[in-house]
Amino acid sequence: MSTDNCIFCKIVLGEIPCRKVYEDDELLAFHDIHPVAPVHFLVVTKEHIDSMAHLDTRHAGVMGRMMVMVHGLAAQQGSTDGFRIVCNTGRVGRQDVFHLHVHVLGGPGPLPGMIARA
Ligand code: 5GP
Ligand code: ZN
Repeated sequence: MSTDNCIFCKIVLGEIPCRKVYEDDELLAFHDIHPVAPVHFLVVTKEHIDSMAHLDTRHAGVMGRMMVMVHGLAAQQGSTDGFRIVCNTGRVGRQDVFHLHVHVLGGPGPLPGMIARA
């Protein structure tokens, strides 16, 4: 998908409002509009990248930074004893918004099991 019709690009540009959790020159974190856990926010790259499957070595720095900062943001939001990150990717991963984002899910209490075994 191009950046023109991308909802997360519009959020990055401030054209669609969000409840911001964190921002720097390369990353933006904001609360998910339909939370599925007491703590549920998204961390997106400001650069439009379709998905985790579109990363290359050029993105190692920003993705590394995302990974090392997520625990601090989760704790700030009240998930002080662990959290879960989820990165739905492509058709198999049931990705809905094709702008790279990780979900950060947290409690106070433990989250449900990861994937229900049918
Ligand atoms: P995924 O692509 O990983 O399946 O999920 C996209 C996530 O983005 C969903 O959890 C959905 O609730 C969230 N989302 C979709 N549109 C918006 C929006 O306009 N604002 C916010 N804050 N979250 C959104
Ligand atoms: Zn985008």
